[in-house]
Amino acid sequence: MHALAYLKPWEMSIIDRPEPIATVDEVVIDVLATGICGSDSHGYSGENGRRVSGQVMGHETVGRVSAGGTIAAGTLVTFNPIISCGVCEFCRAGDTQVCPDAIVIGVDPSLDGSFAERVVVPARNVVVLSDEMPITHGALVEPLAVGYHAVMQGNPSSDDILLVIGGGPIGQAAAIGARRAGVERVLVSEPNDQRRALLEDLGFATTTPDAVAEDLTAKFGGKATLVVDAVGLSATLGSALRTSVTRARIVLVGMGEPQMTVQPYDLTVGERSLIGSYCYSEAHFRSTAEWVSQGRPELDALIDRLVPLRNGPDAFHDVAKGIGGVNKTLVVSGEALAQISTR
Ligand SMILES: [Zn+2]
Ligand SMILES: [Zn+2]
Repeated sequence: MHALAYLKPWEMSIIDRPEPIATVDEVVIDVLATGICGSDSHGYSGENGRRVSGQVMGHETVGRVSAGGTIAAGTLVTFNPIISCGVCEFCRAGDTQVCPDAIVIGVDPSLDGSFAERVVVPARNVVVLSDEMPITHGALVEPLAVGYHAVMQGNPSSDDILLVIGGGPIGQAAAIGARRAGVERVLVSEPNDQRRALLEDLGFATTTPDAVAEDLTAKFGGKATLVVDAVGLSATLGSALRTSVTRARIVLVGMGEPQMTVQPYDLTVGERSLIGSYCYSEAHFRSTAEWVSQGRPELDALIDRLVPLRNGPDAFHDVAKGIGGVNKTLVVSGEALAQISTR
């Protein structure tokens, strides 16, 4: 089968890979579409060194069951890409994302991902989707689950004033997840005009990074009680500390830089809480899949374009260069383009 392999920074190629075979407890999925994640494009450009030559990336996927497992062939599915030990206290609680042995399909070089015609995954990771929903939305379940989990890490309530810092895919997902969780007062800070316009179309208030404090006051009458930092830079975490109330919860999900300089007195004196968030729990992944399965036409706005697998190298180049849209590019495998575009 054909797969899209990372070769070295700024170079990918379509290669031949052996057909994946499902062992017991595994399922082979015919891939329909896979989103290019920020982490994929940073791996491609060499900004993060976690990708190795020959690796097949891809972890934001919708497809149909091909073989293996107990789900009928042809069923529309996505998969939770986290593989974990299955026996530690975290795995037993469904928090596989914090299992010490957790690795992610399509991120860890030892596990081929889904920029390919087919992918094999553990049966327990497969999540069934509705056949009534737009097929492409299945590839959004994974990033939407990241944003939903980040909001839920902050223990949200309908009384909260939520500031989301960063309006890229994860910030968008956090805003959407917050609405799902019943938070109505949401302000998203984002410097890019196109991204702000998209968020406004989705019904969210937006601001620019230099106007966060005044817009929180103007729109919601006060500082943020809950912040999701989907960027993760010194400047954004500093903004979170300055524009939030005493005892605010600040969730850090962005991984913009490995070291930060912040002014910690805002944390100590204001008794603010800084909470980490990584991927999603099994429950949050599944509930996001169910939510998407109910049919969410507005999610179309999150997808910029569909690119056939054979054009994957160009698509990665464009995404890494920021050419051709600010939202998701989906790589569509094999015959799937016709199947998707007739919907
Ligand atoms: Zn991702
Ligand atoms: Zn474990």
